[in-house]
Amino acid sequence: MNINRSEELFNEAKKYIPGGVNSPVRAFKSVGGNPLFIESGRGAYFTDVDGNEYIDYIGSWGPHLFGHNPDFIKSALLQAIEKGTSFGAPTEMEIKMAKLLTEMIPSLEMVRMVNSGTEATMSAVRAARGFTGREKFIKFEGCYHGHADYFLIKAGSGALTLGVPTSPGVTKGNAADTLMADYNDIESVKELVSKNKSEIAALIIEPIAGNMGVVKAEDNFIKEVREICSNEGIVLIFDEVMSGFRVAKGGAEEVLGITPDLSTFGKIIGGGLPVGAFGGKKEIMEKIAPSGPIYQAGTLSGNPLAMAAGFAALSYINNNPHIYDDLEQKSAYLENGFAENMKKLGKNYSMNRIGSMQCMFFTEEPVVDFKTAVKSDTVLYGKYFHEMLNRGVYLAPAQFEALFVSTAHTTDDLDKTIKAHYESLKAIL
Ligand SMILES: *Cc1c(COP(=O)(O)O)cnc(C)c1O
Repeated sequence: MNINRSEELFNEAKKYIPGGVNSPVRAFKSVGGNPLFIESGRGAYFTDVDGNEYIDYIGSWGPHLFGHNPDFIKSALLQAIEKGTSFGAPTEMEIKMAKLLTEMIPSLEMVRMVNSGTEATMSAVRAARGFTGREKFIKFEGCYHGHADYFLIKAGSGALTLGVPTSPGVTKGNAADTLMADYNDIESVKELVSKNKSEIAALIIEPIAGNMGVVKAEDNFIKEVREICSNEGIVLIFDEVMSGFRVAKGGAEEVLGITPDLSTFGKIIGGGLPVGAFGGKKEIMEKIAPSGPIYQAGTLSGNPLAMAAGFAALSYINNNPHIYDDLEQKSAYLENGFAENMKKLGKNYSMNRIGSMQCMFFTEEPVVDFKTAVKSDTVLYGKYFHEMLNRGVYLAPAQFEALFVSTAHTTDDLDKTIKAHYESLKAIL
């Protein structure tokens, strides 16, 4: 495989952009080698600057439910661009977008648009703090909620210790308000709640986690989380930036049958443009400025191009709910193919899948939380990643990420992928 042009561009990029990339996950740091520079994408495929074509299973890290550059989103964007790119004054499309979101996600009574998932989660936590008058919040080890300071906290020695910063630049003060619990471990939640009585504003969780690989919240666990939050006056925030419109038309709350107080969205709702949203109960959302005192703002929030692309994506989903059957069938086909390959090779790597997000962990132990996820052999994953890449399959360049199937993947694409999977495992084992 010739990747000369990508290497040239990467060397050039490193002079001007830290690490040569505008988001660290794009670098191949955890799998070794250098990132590929992409020229164009269409459907299930994208092409790098050296002309190599790949079946893509990242889909821009989640947004591309329909594959790359689908015609209906492209034409919505072309129409919008004729009218202008940004006004800093309200447009009708913002109402249409908000109305559709609230219709599709049962728990959303009101919603505010922002420009990224990070903005959505930090604004939701602020809303919860402003609403409750409390300062602390609970998050779970292995859940990612964007890069705001107080989310970049990992547990210290034990899960129940106060958070310590994971990144330089995050202050001890910030870390002190972040309480860390273990995913799918209700006792860890109960203990934090009883030790911090009436001090916890929010509990934020990926109800279907996609940032420690793919791990689903167990039914009993999430039910108890809901009960504890209701009893203690804690705002339950579902971070559906990844799971929203990915696992079902109504998001993870539909799959789990649990109603959060606030939710956050991103990725798919932008149709490939930078968009986020947070919303939920009216009594909380009405406290947001200008109807209430909790400040939240954005120069480009509700941007006309972003709203056009997002509205096109959501309308398509709303009008074609059968796509989730299609995605389920394709994703199960891929999962089964992988499982059969492993059987042939005498391996039993843990595979977690919820709808069109799945993950094969290089560990044979069941993965139910962060501690079991990190038992994966990440060095082996790196080798597997490169074997797949050499066979024209682009996976996430890190073990603890989801593989996304889109409606654009054909049976032929899936068969090619299953074949590549077999050959790749065979080559590295
Ligand atoms: C991607 C992601 C975010 C952050 O969104 P950005 O748009 O990258 O800021 C937050 N939460 C979850 C669950 C995500 O998957």
